[in-house]
Amino acid sequence: MENIRNFCIIAHIDHGKSTLADRLLEFTQTVQKRDMQAQLLDDMDLERERGITIKSHAIQMDYLYQGKKYVLNLIDTPGHVDFSYEVSRSIAACEGALLIVDAAQGIEAQTISNLYLALGQDLEIIPVLNKIDLPGAMIEEVSDQIIDLLGCKPDEIIHASGKEGIGISDILAAIVERIPSPEGNPEAELQALIFDSSFNSFRGIEVIFRVFNGRIRKGDKVKFVATGKQYEADEVGVLRLDKEPREFIGAGDVGYIISGIKEAKEVKVGDTITHVARPTPLIVKGFEDVKPMVFAGIYPVETSEFEELRASMEKLQLNDASLVWEPETSAALGFGFRCGFLGMLHMEIVQERLEREFDMTVITTVPSVQFHCYLTRGEMIKISAPSEMPDPSLIDHIEEPFIKAQIISKSEYVGSIIALCMDKRGIIKNQIYLTSDRVELSFDLPLSEIVFDFFDKLKTISRGYASLDYELIGFRESNMVKLDIMLNGEKVDALSAIVHRDKAYDWGKRLCEKLRELLPRQMFEIAIQAAIGQKIIARETVKAMRKNVLAKCYGGDISRKRKLLEKQKKGKKRMRQVGNVEIPQEAFMAVLKLE
Ligand code: GDP
Ligand code: MG
Repeated sequence: MENIRNFCIIAHIDHGKSTLADRLLEFTQTVQKRDMQAQLLDDMDLERERGITIKSHAIQMDYLYQGKKYVLNLIDTPGHVDFSYEVSRSIAACEGALLIVDAAQGIEAQTISNLYLALGQDLEIIPVLNKIDLPGAMIEEVSDQIIDLLGCKPDEIIHASGKEGIGISDILAAIVERIPSPEGNPEAELQALIFDSSFNSFRGIEVIFRVFNGRIRKGDKVKFVATGKQYEADEVGVLRLDKEPREFIGAGDVGYIISGIKEAKEVKVGDTITHVARPTPLIVKGFEDVKPMVFAGIYPVETSEFEELRASMEKLQLNDASLVWEPETSAALGFGFRCGFLGMLHMEIVQERLEREFDMTVITTVPSVQFHCYLTRGEMIKISAPSEMPDPSLIDHIEEPFIKAQIISKSEYVGSIIALCMDKRGIIKNQIYLTSDRVELSFDLPLSEIVFDFFDKLKTISRGYASLDYELIGFRESNMVKLDIMLNGEKVDALSAIVHRDKAYDWGKRLCEKLRELLPRQMFEIAIQAAIGQKIIARETVKAMRKNVLAKCYGGDISRKRKLLEKQKKGKKRMRQVGNVEIPQEAFMAVLKLE
């Protein structure tokens, strides 16, 4: 155990975590040159396409340092706020963290929030000033920022470039020298913490754990404490570039187990694995529950695929512990699931993963935050979908979630940032100059105003310089109303939204206009209306299609007719028929892009 080091790499998004991980893997010859590719640990297609890390990835390296062999377990983590739950779980498996700061960007909002997560678990922090190769690197200035933040000495900061391979051996030396080896007793009862899992269609469910005490051996009878289920350890091993089976995984180490788990529900991250015969009296403290920020319905495009969608959601949840869901029904869309997400990016990723990894075609409905609705008869109900909103006569008042937003930016953008936040019903709370031209602003803002397009706007007005972090601070009374959308007189519950009264008219009008552009023309006219209660506040019309596509081959060639129909059917993917109107997926998302 004395030769094991467990560490994660944390930073603000794009500061170079995954690239630095590549260099560590190369330097320790964990990966051969020919297998090397940029951001190797981002092995999901989605991660590679988008150039971001979505999942934490654990990998083990061997490292020879001053004649002694060390085992280093590295966990690369995502930087985006929506995936901070991944970071907090990874941290629980480590004794130390590399805190990477981009020398051209300086400290940003998630540098601070991820650092606090790590300090909360008492991790040893190794500050790394990265990208020093960049012409715009502000080495002294950013070093000062790091010293201010951590209270460390200048010579504790390692200067590095993941791209150029500078500082890599210094980092490895610091990992061995500064990060404590794990504590724990290899002879004690088995106590292992589950911090990740995934579904593999060939091998079934794989569970990733960190052993704190004891050891887990192939063939052992083990028990998952929270669920009480028992299994035989069919295979245990370590996470190298591929999974490598071992005879046992001992205290202090990170590994995986495959054990004939039948259902995704049986695995909970944060659960403890122990032996059936000699259970541990120590239960590793589990993880805090996820607090979803945005809710939306996910429905199969084909209503018959509901059960398949359920199975896919369960499998996806194995690999994404921050996804929460329960079944719901919509008058317009039938059976589906109400899901909670950590943000819009998370929601987008879930939809994409369902489609790519599980071959499902789904519709996601208008996202919403969760409101607290106080009824006149005294009780409070939580509503996260317009359809759950009670009749206005029954409502005493509604409270909406507020967040505290921390924005760090160059000082020249302060004016526009304040204007943006005011427009979003924000209240400025504080303004601190970190250096002469870097400002930290804090605001209280309604969550509903920031989850959708706030971040993009912030980036635009600050030319990419502002960074944002936020946390929930509670609920405040707000004048929220339900805005209904009707197509040919029929309410489409999946298109309605809960909005602030001051913004309702404007919203209704713009949403109707947007829908007019997005709804495909049909054989008949479509009336689009927005209403609050009985009152229509906006109306648009989609004109009828002039010619029947089939009329072209009237009476003629059957095969051509069939082809045409098939083509139309293909075009129908991601469309849902509501009443007599077909609604494409974009329509449900239109609310997010109202400009
Ligand atoms: P992550 O989001 O923290 O994992 O960051 P990535 O490793 O994905 O890198 C983000 C971007 O910065 C990529 O375009 C990298 O090529 C680039 N990058 C990473 N490290 C360096 C570095 O040391 N120097 C320079 N110039 N660019 C880097
Ligand atoms: Mg990354």
